[in-house]
Amino acid sequence: MRDKLLPLGIVASARCSFNCGKNKSIEHLFFACPFTQSIWIQILRMCNIRRQILPWPDEIQWMTDHSRGNRFPQDLQKLAFAATVFHVWMERNRRCFKKSFLTRELIIHKIQEDVGARLESLKSSAVHTEEHYHSLGCK
Ligand SMILES: [Zn+2]
Repeated sequence: MRDKLLPLGIVASARCSFNCGKNKSIEHLFFACPFTQSIWIQILRMCNIRRQILPWPDEIQWMTDHSRGNRFPQDLQKLAFAATVFHVWMERNRRCFKKSFLTRELIIHKIQEDVGARLESLKSSAVHTEEHYHSLGCK
């Protein structure tokens, strides 16, 4: 959309909000941009995953293939992926519209916090389910 509006002078710049000099696009934002790519690599490492960053459609495919099931590593990957996409998008908007920005470290910290909080709530709902089944069993 921004690419189309640029010739009309409606959008100031079609350049990436993270100042890498490339044109912005969804594929660039997730995670071809050196800035967002370094965040995603870091988050993957925290999940004990070391691999090349793929083009965006392949990243989605990888996540779909590797996050089936409800065991802990899959839950963690799904949460980490969702939180990273969310916070990269928020940061892009912050830079586009508010002209303010967070550092890479702060963004990673926010992603960690998010994932941590959701894991906690998953854990407590899992305990809840076990208790539920336990009491069902007793009855
Ligand atoms: Zn960029």
